[in-house]
Parts: sequence; C-alpha cells; structure tokens
Amino acid sequence: EAESMQFIYDFEEGRRTDKGLLGGKGANLAEMTHLGLPVPPGFTITTECCMTYLADESFFDTQLKSSIMNAVHKLENKTHKSFTNTIDPLLVSVRSGAKFSMPGMMDTILNLGLNDQRVQAFAQTTSLAFAYDCYRRLLQMYGDVVFGIPKEEFYDLLSNAEQALAKKTDSFTLREQEEVIQSYKEKFFSRNLVFPQDPYEQLFEATKAVFRSWNNQRANVYRELNHIPHNLGTAVNVQSMVFGNSGDQSGTGVVFTRNPATGEGHLFGEFLLNAQGEDVVAGIRTPAPIAELKEQMPTAYADFVHYAKVLEDHYKDMQDIEFTIENEHLYILQTRDGKRTAKAALTIALDLVKEGIISKETALNRVSPEMIDQLIHPVFDSNALKDAELVAAGLPASPGAATGVIVFTAEAAKDFSNMGQKVILVRQETSPEDIEGMIVSEAIVTSRGGMTSHAAVVARGMGTCCITGCEALTVDEQNKQVKCGELLFTEGDIFSVDGTSGKIFLGEIPTVIAENNEELKQLLTWADEVAQLNVRANAETVLDLTTAMDFGATGIGLARTEHMFFGAERVLEMRRLILADSDKEAQDALERLLTFQEEDFYQMYQIVQDKPMVIRLLDPPMHEFLPHEPNDIRQLALKLGKSPLLVEEQIRRLQEANPMLGHRGCRLGITMPTIYQMQVRAIFKSVIRLQKEGQTILPEVMIPLIAEKEELLYIKQFLTSTIEQVFAQEGIEPLPYELGTMIELPRACFIADELAKEADFFSFGTNDLTQMTYGFSRDDIGKFINTYTEKGIMQSDPFQHLDQNGVGSLIRVAVEKARQTKPEMCIGVCGEVGGDPDSIRFFAEIGVDYVSCSPFRIPAARLAVAQAAI
Ligand code: PEP
Ligand code: MG
Repeated sequence: EAESMQFIYDFEEGRRTDKGLLGGKGANLAEMTHLGLPVPPGFTITTECCMTYLADESFFDTQLKSSIMNAVHKLENKTHKSFTNTIDPLLVSVRSGAKFSMPGMMDTILNLGLNDQRVQAFAQTTSLAFAYDCYRRLLQMYGDVVFGIPKEEFYDLLSNAEQALAKKTDSFTLREQEEVIQSYKEKFFSRNLVFPQDPYEQLFEATKAVFRSWNNQRANVYRELNHIPHNLGTAVNVQSMVFGNSGDQSGTGVVFTRNPATGEGHLFGEFLLNAQGEDVVAGIRTPAPIAELKEQMPTAYADFVHYAKVLEDHYKDMQDIEFTIENEHLYILQTRDGKRTAKAALTIALDLVKEGIISKETALNRVSPEMIDQLIHPVFDSNALKDAELVAAGLPASPGAATGVIVFTAEAAKDFSNMGQKVILVRQETSPEDIEGMIVSEAIVTSRGGMTSHAAVVARGMGTCCITGCEALTVDEQNKQVKCGELLFTEGDIFSVDGTSGKIFLGEIPTVIAENNEELKQLLTWADEVAQLNVRANAETVLDLTTAMDFGATGIGLARTEHMFFGAERVLEMRRLILADSDKEAQDALERLLTFQEEDFYQMYQIVQDKPMVIRLLDPPMHEFLPHEPNDIRQLALKLGKSPLLVEEQIRRLQEANPMLGHRGCRLGITMPTIYQMQVRAIFKSVIRLQKEGQTILPEVMIPLIAEKEELLYIKQFLTSTIEQVFAQEGIEPLPYELGTMIELPRACFIADELAKEADFFSFGTNDLTQMTYGFSRDDIGKFINTYTEKGIMQSDPFQHLDQNGVGSLIRVAVEKARQTKPEMCIGVCGEVGGDPDSIRFFAEIGVDYVSCSPFRIPAARLAVAQAAI
C-alpha cells in the first residue's frame, strides 16, 4: 500500500482541495502557485507520512528519506542553487501545516541548510553580517523545534551579549556575532547535543520534529478544544528561502484583507522592515501598520494590494496573508481564511454579499451560532464607565467586556478558575504554552505585541476579550505584579477589561446588553427566509417576553405559570391555598391568585399580541412553594393565623421521596382541580377583556406530564366546562381555543398516536424526557457528568445537547405516531436543547414545527435553524 503512496507533492502538483493530504498551508501554497502568484518554490511532505512515521519510525529511513532527497534535487534545479555545495547555497524553511490551522503546534524553522562553511558562501550574495544573523536564528529555531531547548534561553544569551557590549544586535561586529553563534552552539553542547552540519541531516531531523509535534501536549489540548480529530497528522512544507532580513529594502508582514476585529473593508496588518517572519508574530519588535508600506516601498505595496485582491476574490473570503519582501521584490508565503471576531464575521459576510462575491446562503454559513452569542453579549454600562478608573490602554485585539482577578501565569489562571474565580490573564506576551490558561480566562491582556500577535489571534478565535500591546504596563510574572506608572497591582486585584476600546479599568464595572445591531437583524432576516421551522421563546415575565420579541421570537413556546407564583405576596396566597383548612380559606386564596394571574396574562398577551403563546398549567410539586426552615415555618404560620406545629406537620406530609417522579404536573391537576380551573379562568378572562378591547387571541393551554390518555381526558373535561362557564358568565359567544399537552415521559412518546386524538398540539419537554429516559436527575447530574465526559463514557451533557440516539429516537417515534393521527398537528420542542444548534439540526430533520428556548438564545437559534435548512 505504502508503495503506491505519493509521499511528496511539489507546489505545482497540489490544489486547495488537498487540505487533508497537504495540510491547509501546503494546499494553499499549491493553489497560489497554480494561480501564478509569486510563491517561492517548494514541496509538501504529506500528512499521511506523518501518521505513518508516528506509527513506525523506521518508515523515515527506509522510504521517506530518498523521496525527500529527490524533491530537494528538483528544488535545486528550479532555483539553480545547491543544498550541499558551498556555492549558491539553497536554504529552505520547514514549516508544519495541518488540515486545520493549529497554533498549538511547533511551527517554523527558517534558514535551514546553513552550516559553518555554507554561511561563508551565503555571505557572498549579501554580507557576512547578514549571513551570521541568519545562522544565529537557525541555531535558535533548530534548538527549539528539534531539541526542545526553550527559545528564551537563546534570547537570554543574546540579551546578555547586548548588555555586556552595550549595543543592539544589529550593530554587533562580525567577531561579536561569531561569539554569539559560538555561545548558541555551546548551549547545545551543554545538553550533550550537537547542531548537525549536514544540511540533509538538518532537514531530516526538522521534518521528524514537525511530525512529532503533532502529538505534543499543546497540540492535543488545542485539538480537544476545537474538536479536531487526533488522527489527521501534520504535513511538512519545505520552501526555498527569501529573506526579509536582508536590508532596509526588505521586510516581512502579516496582513488581513479586511479588519479581523471590526470587519471593515480595508487592508489591516503590520510589517517590519529588515526582519524575518517570526519577528512579527512573536511580538518582539513592534511593527508598523501596513499603510506605511505604501510610502516606504510603493511598488511592493501596489503588488501586495493587487495580490490581496486576487486572493480574496479567488477564495471568496477574507484572507490572512503572510508576505516577505526581498530587495523590493514581493513574495507571498501563506494565505488562509482569516480568523475573525464575531462582529467581523458578520460584517464581512454581509459585505461580501453586497459586493456580489457570495450568496446569502453562503453568508449564513459564514457566521456560527456561537458567534451570535458573542454579538449579543454584555458590554460595560456606559454610565458606570464614566466614573471608572482607567488603568491603561492598549490595542483592542478582541472585543468584549470582562471583569476578573488578575493573574500572571497560565498555571495561576487555571488554579483561580478551578476555584470558581473569573480571571484576567496578564502577560508580557503569550505563547502557545499558555493555551490552557487562555481558555479559562475571561480576558487576556499583554503588554507587548500587536494585533496579529499570538494573544490577539488566539483570543479572537476563542471569542475571548483581549488587549495587546498595552505598553504602559510593566509585567513582572515572577513576582506576580504589574506596574503602571506609580501604580502597582498584584495577583488577585480586580480589573475590568474592555476589548472593544482597548481600555483597562480598576475594579468591577457592571455590564449591559449591546444594542441589537442592524447587521445582525439583516442576517437573521435572511435566516428567517430559508428557515423551515420557527423559533419561539420560553418566557413569562414582561421583561423576558419583551426581550424575546426584540430578538425575533415567532411566539412563546412555553410560559411556565409557576414562575408567576413567585414573589412574597403571591407565594403567600399559594401557601394559604396549599395549607387551607376550609373550603372558604382555599376559595379566598384562589380568588386572590386569580386576580394576579388574570392581570399577568393580560399583560403577557399585550406583549405577544397576535403571535402564538402556549401557557402551561402548574407543574412542580406543591412543597416547592413551602418553607422548610423552622423559623420560616413559624413566621408563615403566624401570617396565616395557624398553629406552627400543625403547619410543620402539614409540610412534612407533603414531602416526597422522589418529588420529580411524584405529585406534580397533571397529577396535581387531577387531585386538586381547583388550581387548574383558576388558571384557565384567569387566562380566558384576560383573553375576553382583550377581545373587548379589539385584540383577537387564540388561547393555547398546555397540560404537563401526561402519561395516560385518561389523564388528559379527565383534565380536558373539567377544563372545558370551566371555560364554557367563563364564556357564559361574561355573556359572550364561545371563542376558539386549543388544549394541548407536553410530551415529556417515555410512555407518552409510545402512545403519542392515542394522545394526539385528544390534544390540539404537542410540545416536547426534553428536560423531563431526558431525565425520565436516562433516569438522570436533572438537578443532580452535575455531580457526575464531568467524570462521565472526562472518562469518555458520554460525549456531553444530554440536558445541553440532545441525546439523539436515545431520547431523540423517542421523539422521532412520537412525531411519526402523532402525524399518523393528525398530519397537520403543531409540534414543538420547549426543553433546554431547543436552543442548542446541534439539536436544532436534528429537530429540523424529524420535522417539528418550532423550537422554543430562553430569550437570549433566540438569535443563535434562528441562525441554526437556517443553517439546518441550507
Ligand atoms: C421540560 O421538561 O423540558 C420542560 C420544558 O418543562 P420544565 O423544564 O418546566 O419541567
Ligand atoms: Mg417538564
């Protein structure tokens, strides 16, 4: 099998569709070569080689080596340079590149192929000073990537030399440069390692190191986090070098074709003159904005503008492009779809539609439901901001607002976060080693670096608020403190970080919800055009109903009436009812509850107007409304004029061993019909009142926890006669209404065809259905679900993501059975998973009419619904 495998592809051979085999970087280098862009020639060793090597290291010597040598020979011919001779030395870069971009992997070795002899030959083309500079960098990158010597140790050697000589690296004499190189080599020796002089050995070892990096800790964590399979492997890209560090007519940069933070449609990025690629990304020197290149090198800039447009038009998306200029000659080294904030994703998607580059459907797929969540997330309250104490300002690298305690290491971030604290990670700059700490942080602040530094790119990808280049801060990670002018802050102090403005404030600042912006409305309007099911809200308070309507709910899928019994005044009446000793007392309590509920329904209907609203009758067990502390019980008895001992006794009698399986839902309706009767009376009285005011409403009343058809029949019977009474009392003609049921018990799913005969509509209560199907208490699953997911026993919490195999099968069965009885019956889903994008895909597939979720999940659900239809 391996015989027939092609191990290596020249850039001329691949295409963008070969990402699986060549990695993202390799596939795009091939695509750009194909497009005729100025890409230095090279080749890609496939991801399959990586996986083969990781399974069996002997593969490298027995099979891969000779292929690599052949590919190098071809490269020598193309470039008219030699990889081994000491004239016209060919130098290459070696870079990893997986199918999905993975900042956690070891990345790049530049200038590979230099050695003690060839550095002299290489100097012929430029200068010895330049050649030494390249050699020093190679030693450092090779030491880091191949031997795992921390780059900081090399930086330390360099800055020691700078201090000892009291000058910067670029003014070192040749002798001084040689000494630094010698000290780097000694760093190898001190670890019993040798820097290999043979260019091929360098290339082989670098390739193996990149292969191995697929399995390093950071890469594994990153894959876990982003749900990337572990068996893909990384490709290795070997490319002939061009030199951005060969003088002031050279440079290197990273540019996005549009602003990745805001989405604005202009080139956005940075460049450094006389520098190599890693200098920009590592945030060691502060680069200049790309616009300045126009003044400094107009021709190269014009070329770049041209190619950026070519690439964006070709890929039909915002590109993140790396380039190098060597003696005013522009080379493109990499392009990929740029990572962006939620806001930028939205703006760019809409602009690309406007520009005629993509369709509305494509635009809908360019924004993820998770991004929508970020867009409607809180921002700092502008009033509170006016009085806030500003600490410092930096670059607004990733928007958002976050408050937390400051910590200075990834470790501390994890520790504090494990203790339940919100943390702000403050660092000089971040590196891929910090990834786990970054994940748990609410915000990331760095004193160095630009908008494209590691912290900025990673934070934007994660949707985490981030400020970079906050130069006013002097971060002392060792002593866990940060200085800002006269001010000194230590671990545990509280900062509020505004990633949108780039400002850091002292202490906690309250947040508010961002305006529901026009762009989001536009996208969601398109979403609604393709949607095949509606998105309703679970809401019952005036505030929640209003929010739900603002977010575009098509109605209310679940108004839980028990929430309307909260509040001191109401709960007292409820308690009076439950504990009543006489009919009269019960009647009084019911009358007062009726007044509250009628007014509530009246207000609720005014907000939802002609949209549907499903009102569910009382569901929870009675004792949830009662006090349990002796002191509270005594006070209640006092208020109700009863004996505390008797009340205590009554409450004890109401206790249940398994309340969620106990006296609740329709079972209460059957044993205590007066409550349900009061509730429908309130509903219909409010509806009639609104009717008289000119508003037409179709009341929809839902009965919870039905398991038997007879339960439903019994309740329907007394509700129907109560409703008829209300019409008679109010002296009006009967109005149309609907009585439906929740399907939230496995038994109800199996007899859904029978139930459908008696119900006008169904709504799946996936919370209870999951609880009853798994036998997992919805209130106690937190005690074990993490262990379950950690041990791989379950992938996720079934109360958050529908268990499609089990609970999903029951729902599918129930929908089919219901539609056998009533093909047009309205069927919804109102459990928590109704707002979960993955679950929505499933619900769309089995043909429910709507999902219903909490108000803040509605925008994301609308998008998810559209994506399920595309
Ligand atoms: C459900 O069980 O899914 C449901 C929506 O009802 P509740 O959460 O109120 O039990
Ligand atoms: Mg329920």
